[in-house]
Amino acid sequence: MMTAISFEGVNQTYMTKSGETTALQEIWLDIEEGELIGLVGPSGCGKSTLLSLAAGLLPPTSGTVEVFGQKGTGPSPDCGYMFQQDYLLPWRTILDNVLIGAEITSTVTPALKHRALALLDELGLSGTAHKHPHQLSGGMRQRVALGRTLLTEPRIVLLDEPFSALDYQIKLQLEELIADTLKARRLTGVLVTHDLGEAVAMCDRIVVLRNRPGRIKRVLSVPESLRSLSPLAARETPEFHSLFRTIWGDLQDEY
Ligand code: ADP
Ligand code: MG
Repeated sequence: MMTAISFEGVNQTYMTKSGETTALQEIWLDIEEGELIGLVGPSGCGKSTLLSLAAGLLPPTSGTVEVFGQKGTGPSPDCGYMFQQDYLLPWRTILDNVLIGAEITSTVTPALKHRALALLDELGLSGTAHKHPHQLSGGMRQRVALGRTLLTEPRIVLLDEPFSALDYQIKLQLEELIADTLKARRLTGVLVTHDLGEAVAMCDRIVVLRNRPGRIKRVLSVPESLRSLSPLAARETPEFHSLFRTIWGDLQDEY
């Protein structure tokens, strides 16, 4: 198996008018291809910064970040992003929102449009192609955002609290869909979440970060018995509750 993302002794310091903030300190972490990694920790501990570093949107202050063995020099074409907000453009149709990346790079072809429509079907969005974002529910809009991300064929999907703005019921459905979609395509995922249950139910490993400066406190492997279950089924098991309590305890010290 190949290493998808490798953080080697990474430090990140932000310079602002009011001084320096060390967001991350001494991060050593290898994320394997096909793995779904959960990132949990208190607000401001550097989770989003870690994703930006992985995506090559930010060069580390020191240390190295490699994506599939390559040291990045700018935004990585291997990485796709999904955020809490869907950032769909209200004046464009769903299909045109999904195609936006390709439109910017002038790579829209009939075949790609066909793929975009197939992707909408796959994500349970049949019949929405010519609608506009305001006609869709929050959960459906997030699925459109997922489609937009997947159409660029990333090998890594970075998920920054993508379920936070959704109703609980919708969130559980989307957890299932995303877990299935990533596994079916053998994609690598990094999921930032403040919902421990979500991390335990969905992920293969969980990285617990501590605050100020952000450092790795612990990396936990989710037992195979949980990983083989869907997120919804995993939540029903004793192993789920046991791991949840362990991480809960870890995080208690950080708040
Ligand atoms: P999280 O996603 O875990 O909430 P962030 O990665 O957003 O944390 O932020 C980590 C720390 O870095 C915080 O203290 C935040 O205020 C600071 N920070 C993040 N982005 C910037 C920036 N662009 N300029 C200055 N400080 C920043
Ligand atoms: Mg964040």
